[in-house]
Amino acid sequence: IKTILLNSRPEGKPSVSNFEFKTEDIELTIKEGELLLETEYVSVDPYLRGRMSNAKSYVPPFELNQPVQSGVIAKVSSSKNDNFKEGDYVSGMLSWKTLQVSNGEGLNKVDPSKAPLSAYLGILGMTGLTAYCGLTEIGQPKKGETLVVSGAAGAVGSVVGQIGKILGLRVIGIAGSDEKIELLKSKFGFDAGINYNTTKDMTAAIAEAAPNGVDIYFDNVGGPISDAVLVNINRLARIIVCGAISVYNNTEAPKSLSVQPFLVKNSALMQGFIVSNYAEKFPEAMTQLTSWLAEGKLTYSETIVEGFDNIPQAFIDLFEGKNKGKMVVKI
Ligand code: NDP
Repeated sequence: IKTILLNSRPEGKPSVSNFEFKTEDIELTIKEGELLLETEYVSVDPYLRGRMSNAKSYVPPFELNQPVQSGVIAKVSSSKNDNFKEGDYVSGMLSWKTLQVSNGEGLNKVDPSKAPLSAYLGILGMTGLTAYCGLTEIGQPKKGETLVVSGAAGAVGSVVGQIGKILGLRVIGIAGSDEKIELLKSKFGFDAGINYNTTKDMTAAIAEAAPNGVDIYFDNVGGPISDAVLVNINRLARIIVCGAISVYNNTEAPKSLSVQPFLVKNSALMQGFIVSNYAEKFPEAMTQLTSWLAEGKLTYSETIVEGFDNIPQAFIDLFEGKNKGKMVVKI
C-alpha cells in the first residue's frame, strides 16, 4: 500500500519535498459495516494549498505526517456494508492511498456507464457544481450581458464560460498561453480571449474585448488580473470571487485593493463563496449539467497524469498552468 503524507507546510510555492511517500507491505482487513477501496482517480485542486497552511479557514488544515486528502474515485474491492457491493465505484473525500478502508460515510456511488469515471471529479463533480452555482446564484446572468472569466481554460473557468454562452452572454476568457486562448474559442465557444502573459495593458485589452463594459466577472485568480477587470465593470456588476490562485503562494501580508472606488461608483456586488454553501442547489445543478452534456451543449477537457507517485507534482503544476481543464491523476 502506498501513501502520500504532508511532511512539512509549504512556504510560498509547494515542492515535492513537502510530501513523504510511504510504502507498506500490509494486508488490510474490513470489519462489519466497512468496505475496502482501491483508488482509481485522484483530483488535485488549487484549494488544497490552503489546507496545507496552518491558517484559519473554512476547513481545518491538514495535519503534518498524516495522509493528504482530496476528491477520489475508488472501486469497492470488498464490502461488509449493505449500501455498497464489490465492483461499485464511489466518489468521496479520501486519502492519498492506493488502498484504504472506509465506513461508507460521505461516499457517493458513481455510474461509469453514464460518464467516464474521471468526469465525476470534474464537470459532474465539484468543478461543475462550482461553475453552475457561482455563476447562476451570484452572477444572476441576463441574456446579452458581458461575462469575463479568469482562469478561463482551467477546470471551473472552462465550464463557467460555456454556461455563459448557453445563457446568451458575451463571454471573454483570460488565460496564460496562446494555445489556451485558441482552445477557449475553438472548443468552448468563448467570444474572445486575452493571454495575460503576453498582454502589456490588461485594462485596455479588457476594454477592447468588452466594448459594452463588464456585467459579470467570475474570478478564479485574484491579483492584478482582477484589478484590470474591475476597472472595466458596469453599474450593478456582479463579481463572483471563486478563487485567487495568483496569491495562494504569497508569503507577504495582503495588499490593499485600490479598485474599491470602482465598486462604490458602480453599486457593484462582490461576493466570495464556497461551493458547499449551495448544497440545496446541487440536485438541480447536476440535472442541468448532465442534460447539457448529453445534448452536446457542454464539453470538457482533462489533463490526466498517470501514476500514484505523480500526485504531488500534478498538484504543483496547477500553479504553473500546466493543465487544460481538470487536472486528475490516474492510478
Ligand atoms: P484550474 O483548473 O483553473 O487550475 C489552475 C489554473 O490557474 C492554472 O491552469 C493556471 O492557468 C491558473 N493560474 C495559476 N497560477 C496563476 C497566476 N499566478 N495567475 C493567473 N492564473 C494562474 O483549477 P480549478 O478550476 O480547480 O480552480 C480554479 C479556481 O477556483 C481556484 O482559485 C480554486 O481555488 C477555485 N475554486 C473555488 C471553489 C469554491 O468553492 N469557491 C471550488 C473549486 C475551485 P493559466 O495557464 O491560465 O495561468
